[in-house]
Amino acid sequence: MLLSECAAVGVDVRVNHCISSVEKSDRFSVRTDRGDFEAAAVVLASGGLSIPKMGATSFAHDVSRRFGLGVTEMRPALVPLTLKVPELAGVSLEVIAGLGRASFREAMLFTHRGLSGPAILQISSYWREGQAIVIDLLPDHDAAAFLKERKRSRPKAELRTVLAELMPQRLAAHLAADGVIGEHRDRDLEALAQGLKAWRVTPTGSEGYAKAEVTLGGIDTRELSSRTMAARKVPGLFVIGEAVDVTGWLGGYNFQWAWFSGWVAGEAA
Ligand SMILES: Cc1cc2nc3c(=O)[nH]c(=O)nc-3n(C[C@H](O)[C@H](O)[C@H](O)COP(=O)(O)OP(=O)(O)OC[C@H]3O[C@@H](n4cnc5c(N)ncnc54)[C@H](O)[C@@H]3O)c2cc1C
Repeated sequence: MLLSECAAVGVDVRVNHCISSVEKSDRFSVRTDRGDFEAAAVVLASGGLSIPKMGATSFAHDVSRRFGLGVTEMRPALVPLTLKVPELAGVSLEVIAGLGRASFREAMLFTHRGLSGPAILQISSYWREGQAIVIDLLPDHDAAAFLKERKRSRPKAELRTVLAELMPQRLAAHLAADGVIGEHRDRDLEALAQGLKAWRVTPTGSEGYAKAEVTLGGIDTRELSSRTMAARKVPGLFVIGEAVDVTGWLGGYNFQWAWFSGWVAGEAA
C-alpha cells in the first residue's frame, strides 16, 4: 500500500544506499556508496542505536551534531536488566514493577541473565545504574493475611508449599525459609509478606543496545519545531522518529511516533 501510494505521487525509492555524509551549502548534498544526491530538504530518519546487528547507527546524531544541534544523553531502554538469579531462569509471573512514580503491572520473566518480560522492559526506561526496583510479586493478594490464615488452617504445611499456592513453585522455594508454617512467628510471616509485596532488586546492569527495543535520548526536541520537525537552526533539515529524544512505552507508541513525526515532516518538507 505504501509503495503504491508512493508510486502515485512519483516518489523515487532507493534502497540499500549507505549514506556517509550530509552537507549543506545552497542545497543539501548527500553522499552515499551508490552516488551523490542533491536536495532542497533532507529528513534524517535513520533511527536510534538499538540492535546494531539490524543496521542501527548513530548517523542521525552525528549529522545533527555537525549541524550544531544538541543531542541528549542516550541509553538503551525497553531492555532486559541483568541480575544473578540463574536458578530461577524460565519462571514468569504477573507483578507490579515500580521505580519512583513509574509503575507497570505486567508479566515478569526470569532469564539466565536476569529479568525480562514487559514489566521489566517498561521499568528499564526509568532505571539508572545503582537504583533498586521495587516489585510486588503478589499484586492481587494481601500476603500477610494469607500467610497468617494458612498458619491457622494448615500449620503443618511447609512454608514454601503454602507460598506456591500464590506463585510459581521455584520462586516460592527460592524466597521461603525452610520449615512448616506453624513454626514461624506471625512477626516473621509479616516480614516475609512485606518482602513479597515490595521485593527490592538492584540490577547489575542492562543487556544493552544488543537487546534494547528503543533508545532513550537523541536529538534534543528543543532543536526542532513540534509542528513540522524542522531543525530551527538549519532550514530544510528535518529529524524524525527514534533519532529524536522521544521514547514511548511498549505497545506501539514508538512506531506511532516514527510514523506520525514522518508524516508531519513530509507535509512540511
Ligand atoms: C526488537 C524490536 C522490537 C520492537 N517492537 C516495537 C513494538 O512492538 N512497538 C513499537 O512501537 N516499537 C517497537 N520497536 C521500536 C520501533 O521499531 C522503532 O521505534 C521504530 O522502528 C523507529 O523508526 P525509525 O524510522 O525512526 O527508525 P528505524 O526503523 O530504526 O529505521 C532507520 C533505518 O535507517 C537505517 N540507517 C541507519 N544508518 C544509516 C546510514 N548511514 N545509511 C543508510 N541507512 C541507515 C537503518 O538501517 C534503518 O533501516 C521495536 C524495536 C526493536 C528493535
